[in-house]
Amino acid sequence: MHAGRARLAQVSLALQASRRASDYRLQLPVHHPHPLHPVPISRGPPARRAHFPKSKAPSIVLPPDLFPDTTPLPAASPSRPARATGIARYYLIPTPPGPAPTIVTRLPSRGNMLCWVQIVNTPTADTPGGCIVLHFDNRRYLFGRMAEGTQRTMVQRKMPLAKIHDIFLTGSIDWAATGGLLGMVLTIADIKAASAADIERTNAGRKAKNKKLVDGPVTHLNIHGGKNLVHYLATARSFILRKALPLQLREVRHDPRPPATHDAAADDSSDKMPEPDYEDESIKVWSIPLSAARERGQGPVQPEQVHDAAPRSPKKRKLSPSSSAASEPATADADPAVKDAAEQKFRESVVNDMFCSSWNLDTLREMRLDEVQLPAKIFVRNNKGHIEPYTGPPASEAPDTMVLVRLPWPASKVEQLPRTRPSNQAMSYIVKGHDRRGTFDPVAAEKLVADKRDYRKLTSGQSVVGKDGNLVTPDMVIGASFPGRGFAVVDLPSEHHIPALLDRPEFSDPNIMASLDIMFWILSDGVTLDSPGLRDFIKARQSIKHVVLSTSLCPNNLALESPMSQLIYMNALDKQRFPLPAYNTKPLSEIDEDLASFVQPARSGLRYQLAPDPAAFHTDAIVPTLSPRTNFRHMMERAPQALELATVARKALLAPADDADQSRDDLPCPDLEIIPLGTGSAMPSKYRNVSATLIRVPGWGSYLFDCGENTLGQLRRCLGYDGADEVLQDLRAIYISHAHADHHLGTVSVIARWNLVTPDRKLAIIAAPKYHDFLREFHQVQDLSMDRLLPVYLRPVPGGRPIPGSISRPLVPADITCPLPTIEACFVDHCTDATALVLTFPGSGLKLAYSGDCRPSAEFAALGRGAHLLVHECTFEDELGGDARAKKHSTLSEALGVGRRMEARRILLTHFSQRYPKLPVVSEETLRRGREGGREKDVEVLFAFDMMRVKLGEFKQAKAFLPAIRSLLEVGEKEEGGE
Ligand SMILES: [Zn+2]
Repeated sequence: MHAGRARLAQVSLALQASRRASDYRLQLPVHHPHPLHPVPISRGPPARRAHFPKSKAPSIVLPPDLFPDTTPLPAASPSRPARATGIARYYLIPTPPGPAPTIVTRLPSRGNMLCWVQIVNTPTADTPGGCIVLHFDNRRYLFGRMAEGTQRTMVQRKMPLAKIHDIFLTGSIDWAATGGLLGMVLTIADIKAASAADIERTNAGRKAKNKKLVDGPVTHLNIHGGKNLVHYLATARSFILRKALPLQLREVRHDPRPPATHDAAADDSSDKMPEPDYEDESIKVWSIPLSAARERGQGPVQPEQVHDAAPRSPKKRKLSPSSSAASEPATADADPAVKDAAEQKFRESVVNDMFCSSWNLDTLREMRLDEVQLPAKIFVRNNKGHIEPYTGPPASEAPDTMVLVRLPWPASKVEQLPRTRPSNQAMSYIVKGHDRRGTFDPVAAEKLVADKRDYRKLTSGQSVVGKDGNLVTPDMVIGASFPGRGFAVVDLPSEHHIPALLDRPEFSDPNIMASLDIMFWILSDGVTLDSPGLRDFIKARQSIKHVVLSTSLCPNNLALESPMSQLIYMNALDKQRFPLPAYNTKPLSEIDEDLASFVQPARSGLRYQLAPDPAAFHTDAIVPTLSPRTNFRHMMERAPQALELATVARKALLAPADDADQSRDDLPCPDLEIIPLGTGSAMPSKYRNVSATLIRVPGWGSYLFDCGENTLGQLRRCLGYDGADEVLQDLRAIYISHAHADHHLGTVSVIARWNLVTPDRKLAIIAAPKYHDFLREFHQVQDLSMDRLLPVYLRPVPGGRPIPGSISRPLVPADITCPLPTIEACFVDHCTDATALVLTFPGSGLKLAYSGDCRPSAEFAALGRGAHLLVHECTFEDELGGDARAKKHSTLSEALGVGRRMEARRILLTHFSQRYPKLPVVSEETLRRGREGGREKDVEVLFAFDMMRVKLGEFKQAKAFLPAIRSLLEVGEKEEGGE
């Protein structure tokens, strides 16, 4: 028997001992005479492949919860190192039913599969970070910083999120590098679920007609990153629950080639390439963790001071984590390595529960009212046996009442994660495609093989019996393979990371560097090509092309062309309400002459083709630089009528208009400025970003009402970097209306920047207790200076419940350094803990009301009675009342109805469904009715647009331009409809 086969038999025996051994067959010709590689044995259902890192990596024990279909092999456990049995690395592959397949050598594929790397975005004000996509026909890989706004950029670039197979996060796990990840994962989960359902429907039809079934999309997602990756994702468990997105996390907690082994590796003069740390059908990846200089040589990352100054949220319940799939983390006196591994496993199980739990929304459990853990939706069965919401007395009055409650998500039951600390480790990667097969030699084949039909077997990697009865192996008839080309993505968050880079063996390994074509450099502010050591490092690698993504070399141009074009057009109509965005088409610095022949700044859309030959840059997809001047000319041609209507509006405003002036006098604080930064619902879209409204109250500072992803980017695009900092220096409070991700994923970056620009101020965070818990837990990953944040808890009145309509009694900490207006709130009908807010400013009596997302609320109308400004959501137009009720939002008329009951003087409608990328359909009649009611006169209604700037005293002037704006948007909609 063949030596390789004998070994295989041995390993199969070992597999018999494992739990689900029969499901797997192992291919493992470690010392095979021919260069065999482990491969999927057969096509069939998409194989889930688990790549075990080398035995020296402690993470070799695969958490069963993360890879539910695989069973760790006994041979791979730390007590029985893999190497002892001759196993270096292996795949587990579900075995398809049927006869045992033949052993197949993996030959590099011959195919001319098109493969390229492309720059998704360069760092600008509203596309911070920088990332690169690796494109294959059937899948995409993302490399770089998944900063806030990345998803929106991809939508703008028409890059399909459903095809993303792996995300490789570079840099450190902090919000700057990963702030866009949570939103992106949510969207990917939704898209994948929708397309899987689509395929299922299609296949059901095809099955009935006996047609061949179509392949489904890639349904899982792998995320790779540095220390704290899993902890970071687990902090989102109170607001992320998606079922059936198998999310596999690969956190690099240990250096796969630690510095101590570098010299030994250098002495080992073998010409073997170091093993990759990740490998799949398309690529091999070497993960390169770089520790900041001050930490190097100190072993694991040293603790950094993490404050936990903020008080615990009120009414904390104690829940055993064992209620989830995981076991409890190890006790404190355990071996640190064991404890660390157990804690990590615990975090992994939490993330697993967030994305693939079997929790069912419809399961209700009966229990006593006083046993219900609040907040929870409570139901009862009425005397007809129907289930309805419980509206009876609270538990303190009727503890024995039997009620029905929905079981909470398994992940959300975990009250506290094992502690972690910020890490300065930053990830970089080297990526290479697989080698491509050499040329088939028909002359050699003819000499050795009798049957020409065997040629096909040989080219597909099978050995055949030759003319003389000997085994003919593929390498006997196929020439040397072509090495797979590759690229590197190096991320330097600070100059302190450069010494570690200079020490890395991978960048001097001739085998790796031989076919490495291109290096992408992601440089944070403060790191330049002149940083010590970097220039020499790059100069020593001149045969490689170097592409730099940094704010100094890449201009702050208008990266999101659709919303920016729209803003420029609107500026042509109404300069006051729609000032031009801040931008710069010239970079802050240029590349020096001595580097210019092999170093270039990155440009969005730039492509480099890795296969097939010839490998080269392609500039055809580079995103053209947007210029307001060109856009204005374009507008004159396409929407002349809008320009005419704007002229009419301007003339009308010049005429003496006493009632406009009067309304100005009549309002307190007419110079209060409102800047809607995000006016869309659900997810960042082409024209509207997710929720955020900035209100600047003269003398009382700035307030952010909700803070969706990339609020900071929108602010910077709107006011410039300096202008945004000015607003932050003046920021008093951020209000988060509810837990939906589109309302708060931008808070951390706002806080982080606020921290830098205001070292001695306080900032109130007004939110439900769960949101404060999230901030406190994330603070372990990145220092947020919690001692300077004033948490204002929106919780029910004592003994009450957070049910829609009930009043919240905010717990406002007194701090004379941060005087706040009076805060009132009530719970609204949207999701658990959703609130609406009313602020009243002492002195002027100015009253602001903000709805968050909700069904129309009588209590909110009462609380905000006489408000000078109401900002209300209006997700759906009136025809979609059913959708509004089902999704717990308001229609346009319902929002106006709340304004009428409130007797609000100015109403700003926002939070538009993505169905209306531009403006919902609304009749003048509806608007007129909105203005009627308690106060017959002087009620004005406006629609919010991203980056519009309107003063409280100027609603009438702003409204005068509405016909012009509507005409412009109609032209745009027609053009897009025709596309
Ligand atoms: Zn919502």
